[in-house]
Formats: sequence, C-alpha cells, structure tokens
Amino acid sequence: MYLKEIEISGFKSFADKINMNLDDKITCIVGPNGSGKSNIVDAIRFVLGEQSIKSLRGDSLMSDVIFSGSKNRKPMHVANVSLLFDNHDHYLNIPYDLVSVKRRLYRTGDNEYYLNGEKCRLKDIIDLFLDSNIGRDSFNIIGQGDIANILSNSGTDRRIVIEEAAGILKYKKRREEAFRKLDKTTINLDRVNDIIGEIENRLNPLKDQSEKAKKYLEYKEKLESNEVSLLVEEITTMNIEYQEKKEQIKKLEQELILLNKQLNDPEIEEMKLKDINLSKEIQNLNALLVSLAKEKEEINIKRNVLKERQKYQTKDIKTQENIDYLKDKKLDLSQQIKLLEQDIELKNNQKKEYEKTLNSIIEDCNQKRFKQETLIKESNTKRKEILDLTNQIDILKNNINDNLYLSISVQRILDNPKLKGIHDALINILKTEEKYQKALDVLTLSTKNFLIAEDMEAIKEAIAYLKENKLGRATFLPINVIKPKLVDLETKEICENTDGFLGIVSDFLEYDKLYENIVLNQFGNIILCDKIENANILSKRIANKYRIVTLDGEIIHVGGSVTGGSLNTSKNNFSLKNKVQELELTLNLNKNTLITQEESIDKLNTEIQLLERKIFENRGVLLESIDSLNISKNNLATFSKQLSDISLELKNIEGEDLENDLDKEYYDKSLEYETLDKKIKNLLQQKDMLQKSILEKEGTIKENRLNYQKKEKDLQNYTISLNKLDFKLDQDLNILNTEYSLTYERAKEEFALEVELEKARKDVDLYKHLLKEIGMVNLDSIQEFEEVNNRYTYLTNERDDMLKAKDMLYSIIDEMDEVMQNDFLETFKQLQVEFSKVFKEMFKGGEASLELTNPDNVLETGVEIIASPPGKKLKTVSLLSGGEKTLTAISLLFAILNIRSVPFCVFDEVEAALDEVNVDRFGEYLKHYQNKTQFLLITHKKRTMEYAKTLYGITMQEYGVSKLVSVKLVDNEN
Ligand code: ATP
Repeated sequence: MYLKEIEISGFKSFADKINMNLDDKITCIVGPNGSGKSNIVDAIRFVLGEQSIKSLRGDSLMSDVIFSGSKNRKPMHVANVSLLFDNHDHYLNIPYDLVSVKRRLYRTGDNEYYLNGEKCRLKDIIDLFLDSNIGRDSFNIIGQGDIANILSNSGTDRRIVIEEAAGILKYKKRREEAFRKLDKTTINLDRVNDIIGEIENRLNPLKDQSEKAKKYLEYKEKLESNEVSLLVEEITTMNIEYQEKKEQIKKLEQELILLNKQLNDPEIEEMKLKDINLSKEIQNLNALLVSLAKEKEEINIKRNVLKERQKYQTKDIKTQENIDYLKDKKLDLSQQIKLLEQDIELKNNQKKEYEKTLNSIIEDCNQKRFKQETLIKESNTKRKEILDLTNQIDILKNNINDNLYLSISVQRILDNPKLKGIHDALINILKTEEKYQKALDVLTLSTKNFLIAEDMEAIKEAIAYLKENKLGRATFLPINVIKPKLVDLETKEICENTDGFLGIVSDFLEYDKLYENIVLNQFGNIILCDKIENANILSKRIANKYRIVTLDGEIIHVGGSVTGGSLNTSKNNFSLKNKVQELELTLNLNKNTLITQEESIDKLNTEIQLLERKIFENRGVLLESIDSLNISKNNLATFSKQLSDISLELKNIEGEDLENDLDKEYYDKSLEYETLDKKIKNLLQQKDMLQKSILEKEGTIKENRLNYQKKEKDLQNYTISLNKLDFKLDQDLNILNTEYSLTYERAKEEFALEVELEKARKDVDLYKHLLKEIGMVNLDSIQEFEEVNNRYTYLTNERDDMLKAKDMLYSIIDEMDEVMQNDFLETFKQLQVEFSKVFKEMFKGGEASLELTNPDNVLETGVEIIASPPGKKLKTVSLLSGGEKTLTAISLLFAILNIRSVPFCVFDEVEAALDEVNVDRFGEYLKHYQNKTQFLLITHKKRTMEYAKTLYGITMQEYGVSKLVSVKLVDNEN
C-alpha cells in the first residue's frame, strides 16, 4: 500500500485546490520558510481524523484550519482534504484496490467524513487505520520537532513509541474503554444499590400494609356475604310479619266500624220516656184506684145504712125543701161537669200538642246525637291518623337529628363537642325547593363525608381524632381556603341560548352567606338542565366542559360520560327533610280537620244540651198538663159521684128502689176497681219489662264501648309496629341497595343463608369486630406492593447483571493487560537488539541500548535510552550534542521501522540538525526500505533532496496562498 494522491483545498494556506501525485518511492517537498510545507503534514493528520487543534497547530477552534483569507482573498467556508491510497496488496482491511479517505470541515465546526466517496463516521476511518500503524498519531508521521521530543521526553512518554510499535495502542484504547465502562457500571451500580436500599426500606412496611389490606378485603367479603344473607332473612321474616300485621289491622278496622254502630241506641231514650209516662200513668191510676176503693167503701156503707134504716124505720119524712135543694145542686153539678168535660177535652188536646212538640224535640235531639256520634267516629279516625303521622315524623326527625344519612366519620365528628371549628356537614347547610331535590340528591351523593371547617387548625384536630379512633375518612372544606369555581361567561352565554337550561346549581340553593365560597366551589360550576335530551345538546355545545345535572338526577360529566338510572334516596338528607315537610303538611291538615270536627262536636254538644234541657222543660210542661188534666178528671169524677149521690138521694127521698141501685152501683164500682187494678198490674209488668230491657241495652252499649276502646288501642299499637316494621324494611332494603347495589330479589337469589341464623349473626359480629381491629387500611398498598416488589425484583436482577458485567470487564482488562504486557516486552526485546544494531550502523560504531526504568511493572514502566557514540563512554542522551541526539532518535525511528514495517512515512525536517555526513548516512539508510516503505520528506537539505525520486516545490507567489509550483523528476539512483 502507498499514498497515491493528496488533494487539498481551503485548508490552511491552500486556498486553491492542489493535487499532489505520489509514488511508492521517496518524495521531497521543498520550499521557503512559511510557504506551507508543514501544512501538508497537518492536512494528512487532519484527514486521518485528528481531533486536537493543537496537534494541527491551530489556535483554539477546529475551524482555524480553514483558509482564513489574505490581503487579496476572502476567507473560505469549507476545508477539504482527501487522500487516495493504492491498496492492491490489501494492506488496509477493506476489499478495495483504491481507497480514498476524505474529510470536509465547515466553518460551523461540522465535519463530514467519506470513505471511497460514501459518507461515513469518524470511527470508521479511525478503525480502518487503527491496526495498520498509520493512524493520525502513529509513529509514521513525524512532525517538525517530534524527533527532538523523542529524546527529551520522560521515560514514561517514551514508552508510547514502543507501545505504538508493539501495536498495543488499540488494546490500550480498548482497555481505557473497558475502564470507562467499568466506571459507568460502578456509578450505575451505586445508583441501583441506592434505589434498592430505598425500596427495601419501603418494601417491608408496604408488605405489611398489603397483607393487612388483603385480610381486610377477605373479612369484608365474608362480612358482606353474611350480612347480605342476614338482611335477606330479616327482610323475609319482617315481610311476613308486615303482611300479618296489615291483615290484623284491616280486620280490626272492620270490627271497629261494626262496633261503632253499636255504641248508641236511640231507642233507649224513647224507652226511658215511655218508662216515665208509665210511672206517671201508674201513679194516676193508683190514685184513681184509691178513690175507687174509697167510693166503693162509701157505697157499701150507704148500702148498709140503707139496710139498717129499712130495718128500724120503714118510712122517712121527706121534705120538699130538701128535694129542691138537691135538685138545684144536681143542676149546678151537671153544669160544672159539663164545664169540666170541656176543660178535660181542652187539656187533652193540649197534652197531645205538648207530646207532639216533645217528640219532635226528642227526634231533633236524636238526630243531633247521631250526627255527633258520626263526627266522634270520624274524629277518632283522624286522631289515629295524626298519631301515625306524628310517629313517622318522629322517626324521620330522629334520623335527621342523629345525622344517620351522613357517613359514620362525619356523624362522630359532629357529635364530638370537643372538636372546635367544625361547622357542619356540607349537606346540612343546604336547602332547596322540592323540584330540585333529585338533582341535589345525586350531586350530594358523593359528598356525604364532606365537612365544613373554620381553618386548617380545626381540620388537623379532627383528622387526629378520626385516626386515633379509627373512624375512617372525611373530607374537610376550610372556609378560609376554599375558592369559588364558576362557569365562564362564554359558556354561560351558550347556556342561555340553549333550550332547557335552568341555571347554575348554586343559584337554586339556600345557604348562609358565610358558606358562599364553599357552595360555589362545589356547585358554582354545575349546570342545571330540565331533561337529559336538552342536557345532551348543551353538553355538546359547550364541548363537555362542565358537569350538567338534570331535574331527574342524570349527570353528564366533564368529558361526556353519563350517569343515570334510579336512585334510592330515602336515606338522603334532602329526601328526609322533604318527607318530613310533606308529612308535617298532611299532619297540619289533619289537625285542622280534627279541630273543625271537635268544634262541630262541641257545638252539637251545646245544641244537644239545649235540646235536652228543652226536653226536660217540655216534659215538665207535659207532666204539668197531665197533672192538671188528671186533677180535672178527678174533679169530674168527684162531681159525677156527687151528682150520682144526689140523684140517689133524690131517688131515696122520692121513694124509689134505692137498694137495688146501690147494689148495682157497688157492683159497677167493684168491676171498675178490678179492671183498673188489673190494668195497673199490667202496666207495672210492662214498666218492669221496659226497665229490664233499658238496663240490658245500657249494659250492651257499655260493653260495646269498652270493647271498642280496647280494639281501638290494639289498632293503634298495630299501626305503630307496622310503621316501625315499614321503616326497618325500608332501611334494610336501602342498605342492600346503597351499600351492596343489590335488589332484595337478586340478593335472595345470590346470597342464600348457608349457615344457621345464629351462626350468621355471630359471624357478622366476628367480622365486624375483626375489621374494627384491623382499623384503617391502605387498599392501594396491595397494588403498590406488587409494583414495588416487581421493581425490586427487576432492580436486583439488574444489579446482578451489572455485577456480572463488572466481573467480565475486569477479566477483559486482565486479559488485555496480559496481552499488552507480553506484546510490549516482546517488542521491547526486539527493539533493544534492533536499536543497538541501527545505532552502530548510523554512528559507525559506539554502543546504545534501551532499558526499562521499572521492569517490575511492565505496564507502566518508562523506557530509558543509553547511547554512547564511538569512542565515548555510555552516557544518558541528555548529554549528547544536538546532532548526536537527532541521529540517536533517527536510529530509534529506523529500528522501529525495521521491526514494524509501515507502508508510508512522513518526515518533516527530521534531519534538519544533521551535518552533511550524517544527512548522507540518513539518506543511505533510507535505501533499506526500498519497495517496503514510501517516504514523504519535507526538507531544506539539498543532500536529502538527492535521495528523492520526486520533488515538489511549495511557493507563495501570491501572498498568503500556497501553490504547488513545480514537479521535477529527479534522476538519481533511486
Ligand atoms: P518552514 O520551512 O519555516 O517550516 P513551512 O513551509 O513549513 O515553513 P508552514 O508552517 O507549513 O510553512 O506554513 C505556515 C504558513 O501557513 C504561514 O504563512 C501561515 O500564515 C499560513 N497559514 C496557517 N494557517 C492558515 C490559515 N488557516 N489560513 C491561511 N493561511 C494559514
């Protein structure tokens, strides 16, 4: 291989392109100082990939090597250098006979490399020459001053020359690379170890947490299945009980309706009246009977007197006077009797009239009594309803007061008077009209554990309390921190132009001004729409930017996802409060109705009392009229008797058959007496029977009342327990629904009770207890542990890999050390022999040798040169003359070339310090390399030029621009 062509343009002083053709012999480049000869050496180094600007004799930037301009020339922007190698012998390990290498450098500092015209990397170029002894800093290119350095350098620097010759530079580079990798691996290893350390610190607590969380989930699942099946069982039992109670209530209500009819008997009053009448009649008849008995007795006496008189005096003296008097009296009596008869008729009529009036009042009174009874019955029903409602309201209010619709954590915080600065639950401070309630219910569903707090201090205390008592979590909204969230004006305008938009949710809430920021933070950016169809349109129009809720409780979330379906809200605050309001409204209506009913009952009572008094008065008037009628009748009887007495006396006086008359009269009276007596007895019997049946009726009514009251009480009790059952059922169904998302039917299908009821109850208690014991768990820790553990495994594997890599690097370094050591020693030995030989040849005698400064450390030992020109004692090189030094160095150079041949060499004025004799020896020695090594010599020595086959001249005809001016073939013995 040899260098066939050098092409330079824009590089240093070579502004114009020059093309230097070479052959495999000796070429000399000559020219005046500063004409640009050494720039050619720089150009060769440049193209072989030199990266140090100092080595290229530049200032600071690589772009310094680009032609920087002259008096008449502008600076250039790019430097190009290319070398063309003849590679027919395939010295370079590349399957081409000609190999061109080119480097192009731009002012920007960008470099381009080309191998046979193809763009390539710098590394490709360096690798190509690395094993060929002709690299950018190989010993085949000896720049100006390099030769002097070989000797003046330290022993350690000098060994580099031998390393180059031994070809172990490539190993050295690779060794350095291995060390760099080792350093990098060590740094990575340290880093990985640090991370592993950190992970190890986290791993164990995480493992504990994760195991705890898994236990928690396991217990929770067991609790759930047992609790759900228990709930199902309870609901089933309660349902049966509920149906039974309902049946019983229905039955009782029917019985009460029937009984109610039997609470009063209007006949009783009539019967009582009849009884009074009977008493009066009996009393009167008794009086009549007494007077009849008296009359009968008087007749009997008269009859006896008559019989006695007839016995002792047959005839009485009758006077006309007496007869007249009796006749007058008789007339008078007849008149009085007539008047009395008229009076009796009148009184009879009056009595009938009184009776009629009395009966109509009684009738009226009875009607009122019936009306009152009906009202009482109705008011009793109302009272029962009121009781029911009050019960229901009480239960609901208890739930509200106990905050049962809130999460346990929030309830407990609100119940703790020691926690200062906690205002209330978010849900509790809000009110809304019933039509917005559904929307609010769904919106507040996820805020059941939101609490309003005064400041961070209060929150800290509350959280500490929750943690200490393992009460779960709550979210706190500090009044002094929370900022409002609002809908932007642009969106609002779109909303206002869309059908169905009702407003922003916060506008429909009532709350204390103090909580304005919090309410706006939670509800100030949620839009309320009438129905889902309009909400969908609106959401699209505002690019799903805000949450929208409908009156029916569907939600369109930011981003467009929709939540809807049915919601069991009976456990929610708003529903409870509204339910209470609704029930209270019904309760008030019922109370008002009851008051009206009671007023009517009272009014009827007064009216009835008035009527009863009227009955009493009228009855008095009637009795008085009966009395006076009876008096008149008695008088009539007395007068009639007197009239008949007078008539009898007149008959007696007039001598008629008085005895017969008296007998007849006595007989009639007796008959009349007996009839009357019989009648009285009959009436007494009737009265007896009447009283008996009154008592009987009154007894029955009393019994019915008691029965009614008892049943009414039973009904009340049943209704209360039915309500309680209803509430409990509702509660249990709610738990199923909200906590387990199950319907009763579904739960019944899926969670059949597999163990005894008692065992299930015990299990529920057990798992609740276990869960309480476990306390707070971090469910995320399960996944977190898995992730951290995976990472830990991954990193420990990585660490193992790195340790293996480190071992491998160490063994590679060791191997390379061994190879380098062996190669170095072998080359050194060869060189020792060769150097001594070449030295003798160059100096025509004398002694020279190479020595290791530290033979025990071959890898780092320096190399010392001992040289003793002929006739002189062995001395260190520093004591040699300048020319001797140069010749010694050249000897070393040639010794190296002898043991490691190179295809081409560039020597820049290496022989400058030699005298003519020594230049000759140098020139002569070059002949050793004929056909082995091509030489490019830059020189000022004419003697040297004589050894060249080709001569190139470099001039600077134009100031600052180098030119290849002449090519002169020299005919010498080469
Ligand atoms: P000597 O015989 O003294 O060693 P030489 O022929 O080897 O001289 P060089 O050292 O190769 O000369 O060239 C130096 C010349 O190159 C200087 O004149 C310098 O101004 C010029 N030069 C160096 N860099 C640039 C550059 N980037 N642009 C233009 N000219 C440059």
